[in-house]
Amino acid sequence: MKLVEQAFNDLFPEKDLENYNLKIKYTDKFKPYNANVRYTKNSLQFNLSKKWRKISKEIQVGLIQGLMLRIFKEKKATTNIDLYNSFMKNLHISIPKINNDPVLGESFNRVNEKYFFGLVERPNLTWHDSIRRLGSYEYGTDTISMSKVLGADTNLLDYVMYHEMLHKKHKFHCKNGRTHHHTKEFREMERKFDDSQEMEERIKSLVRHKARKRFVWF
Ligand SMILES: [Zn+2]
Repeated sequence: MKLVEQAFNDLFPEKDLENYNLKIKYTDKFKPYNANVRYTKNSLQFNLSKKWRKISKEIQVGLIQGLMLRIFKEKKATTNIDLYNSFMKNLHISIPKINNDPVLGESFNRVNEKYFFGLVERPNLTWHDSIRRLGSYEYGTDTISMSKVLGADTNLLDYVMYHEMLHKKHKFHCKNGRTHHHTKEFREMERKFDDSQEMEERIKSLVRHKARKRFVWF
């Protein structure tokens, strides 16, 4: 049985596989370990970054089952999804650290010393141009990326760095196939940053001045 069919059968023993056309495509167009699914009527095409090809079938099944749950809007837990989650959570260990911007490195060190007892392992650190996305942490490449608009305000840079480091340190929480990044506990930890309220205000005014578009940060 094909990997994608096995994923489907194990997840939905009550659904008939015959009714669906399932496909996997490994592609170069994604960043490492990204994936998505295209769904039209009864056909599901899973697009996976080429990196996935070398990863064990059990873990790929978990990735695909997670995507299936999103498409079918269902909640379920499987051993394969657990395997996939722990794979993603431990991926950072094997990822080479090649991007190390000095300004971001200093911000990372300041925040690490002050709030994490210096215990967070350094990820890749890069800048990006987007204003909509102030900061992000990507598990697949172990990279914290910060918007260049933050470069002029060291405190704010550190605040967003802190947010992304919380993601790196605490990872995500998965329940019944749903992944939660900004839990109540996460928001509580976020508020431990000095003057976090003022930082939130500064973010609002920065975004008002720089862009009218709605912004998001991950
Ligand atoms: Zn976030």
